[in-house]
Amino acid sequence: MSTHYEVLQVSESASQDMIKQRFQQLILKHHPDKNTQQANQDQSHAILKAWEVLRDTTRRRAYDIELECQRNKQDMAIGAEVDLDDMEHNEAQQSFSMVCRCSGDYVITEDELEVGIDVVGCNNCSLRIRVLYDVIEE
Ligand SMILES: [Zn+2]
Repeated sequence: MSTHYEVLQVSESASQDMIKQRFQQLILKHHPDKNTQQANQDQSHAILKAWEVLRDTTRRRAYDIELECQRNKQDMAIGAEVDLDDMEHNEAQQSFSMVCRCSGDYVITEDELEVGIDVVGCNNCSLRIRVLYDVIEE
């Protein structure tokens, strides 16, 4: 299974502009209307699907984390599980934060919580925490 980045032939650190440019090149080449062969159809669907995720920075971030989790399933160090209620709510930035034992910060935004991200890394060391929370009520 190719990653969305492999489908679009870009590096995982590619800028949004680069991804957009590459998508436009590829979709011209593999447009379903121009290609009736099944292999090409599959490829154009994969390209569209990859673009749908990577064009949106929030979804891209969630996908990056998902990829990373798949790769590091064994050695991913989750330092602790933390209840969202125990984190500090920063209303202006719409985020929750907690100080790491290295004195760095764990910061998770409400947008991230909304798309289902629950693992957040320290901005200063390699530790991660899992944030436990119930579905946010409107
Ligand atoms: Zn830390």
